[in-house]
Amino acid sequence: MTTRYPGPLRDQPLPIELHNTLYATTRGDRCDGIADAAALRAWLAAVASDLPVPAPSIDADRSAAFRALRDAVRSALHAALDDKPVPPRARRTLNDTAAACPRSTQLAADGTRRVRYHAEDPTQIVLAAIAHETIALVTGPRARDLRLCGAPGCVLAFLKDHPRRAWCSPSCGNRARQARHYARHHH
Ligand SMILES: [Zn+2]
Repeated sequence: MTTRYPGPLRDQPLPIELHNTLYATTRGDRCDGIADAAALRAWLAAVASDLPVPAPSIDADRSAAFRALRDAVRSALHAALDDKPVPPRARRTLNDTAAACPRSTQLAADGTRRVRYHAEDPTQIVLAAIAHETIALVTGPRARDLRLCGAPGCVLAFLKDHPRRAWCSPSCGNRARQARHYARHHH
């Protein structure tokens, strides 16, 4: 039985969704969406369509490995946000995780490009895929679209998909506008 993931999902690339598993509730409490095996299982089920392997094949008991990779991913994304180099420890974790599972590009019969991972262990494949994607993101053209949500108390990241987007979601946009309205009329 997998319970429904209770945290926020923003339809972002996997590295950003992993970043966003550390989130804040509207009351301001900090939550870890992958704090244990059951929580990780729920998150994996929620992002299943973006995973290179079936979500149930992943060993959720290795949630510590996902949290360790998340530390490196967060460090890399925040370095990109600040236009700074990725700290050596995070860089090593990303490189080692990516290298643990080599991959190749395949031309599929339908003319599309597929990525094939050369490992037996589905858990290792997912960790490597996230490391690969993180490296591609922070070194690629979309790194400059990375943003942290501007709504009060929100700690989520997202890729800006239009020039004026400042919030991770419409509901955060509404909260930010309400907070501004309140500040204007009550001071
Ligand atoms: Zn937000």
